[in-house]
Amino acid sequence: MKVPLLNLKLQYAQIKDEIKSSINEVLESQQFIFGPQVESFEKEIAHYTQADHAIGVSSGTDALLISLMTLKIGKGDMVITSPFSFFSTASSISRVGATPIFIDIDPLTYNISPRKINEAISCLKEDQIKRVKAIMPVHLYGQCADMDSIVKIANKYNLKIIEDAAQALGAKYQNKDSAELFHHAGSRSDFGCFSFFPTKNLGGYGEGGMVVTGRKLLADKVQSLRHHGCRSQQEQYYYDDIIGINGRFDALQAAVLKVKLKHLDQWTTKRRLNADNYNKLFKETGLVSDIDDHKLEGSSIGLPYVEDGNYHVFNQYVIRARERDKLKEFFNQHGIGSGIYYPLPIHLQQCYLELGYKEGSFKEAERAASEVLALPVYPELTGKQQELVVTTTEQFYKKK
Ligand SMILES: *Cc1c(COP(=O)(O)O)cnc(C)c1O
Repeated sequence: MKVPLLNLKLQYAQIKDEIKSSINEVLESQQFIFGPQVESFEKEIAHYTQADHAIGVSSGTDALLISLMTLKIGKGDMVITSPFSFFSTASSISRVGATPIFIDIDPLTYNISPRKINEAISCLKEDQIKRVKAIMPVHLYGQCADMDSIVKIANKYNLKIIEDAAQALGAKYQNKDSAELFHHAGSRSDFGCFSFFPTKNLGGYGEGGMVVTGRKLLADKVQSLRHHGCRSQQEQYYYDDIIGINGRFDALQAAVLKVKLKHLDQWTTKRRLNADNYNKLFKETGLVSDIDDHKLEGSSIGLPYVEDGNYHVFNQYVIRARERDKLKEFFNQHGIGSGIYYPLPIHLQQCYLELGYKEGSFKEAERAASEVLALPVYPELTGKQQELVVTTTEQFYKKK
């Protein structure tokens, strides 16, 4: 029995007929860019995330880039973000000419630490504080960052917030100050940015992304910037008021994603059940610490931590593992897929050395990079396959 990290063919088999007929509508219409499929999918995502406006764009990366452009963030400006994320979180900031300010993560959630944001801001000089324009939190692996605290910091220093929710479509969290209020990932800031890269929970058949926002003026500007900055009415297409990019969204992707969105909640439920099942199975092995099952001290593996009031959508199920690289190799030999997200924190990437960070700058991000391992958690994964992952893990540590 093999256990791949992700198996998209199983999902396709469930929805083949629906997908083909939806794609066929686009083929018959011969309208491939924008159009009715795109517009209706945008409305569905706005509804799904409880945002007022949703604008389809060419990728998650371009969603981040266009959001920054919309806020006129650029040369000389600074944006606070996490060094433990996919590269494009930081590169989108650099692409507009601004500078990322990295802040270390919370070792439990892997998300940016609001306490450390506060500490870092209080160390900045007056003129530097003025240059900080925004915070870009990442909802890593499908769990929301501590938005209540981040919103407070943003209000205090008058900063914008762009949520990198690429891995977190459908994730929610409880408002700490008013317990009956739930927020959807991406809906509580100036912009929420989503990706439809095939490996995300709602994956397209190619590239795609979405920007959501609660503000009409910003939505209009995103709409213009994704289309070279030209005016939005078709008869005025060749009149440009601002300089945008080609960040358009394809009708074929909308056709696919409209079908898949109907199944998303059910798939997310399966991911969450798989995560629970792993937790239970791993606890039975004794490889996990009895005192704190998220920590690696005195144990072989640490389990994912879910903050109280958070609805985690498990784009990735990530453990901490002693001798992580050897475990990964052992999995490989036994036909089990696993992934490292991410092996090198962004502040240590070659292209960012010029910012002056070094090894030791962000201890938690660096430790995570050397310990994390993502296990298969896709919705179609079977109980037997999960058992094999767990017994193989046991075999690896017991032979030591
Ligand atoms: C996938 C991802 C992106 C980029 O999305 P693309 O659609 O691949 O451009 C950005 N940030 C995070 C955290 C991601 O996981």
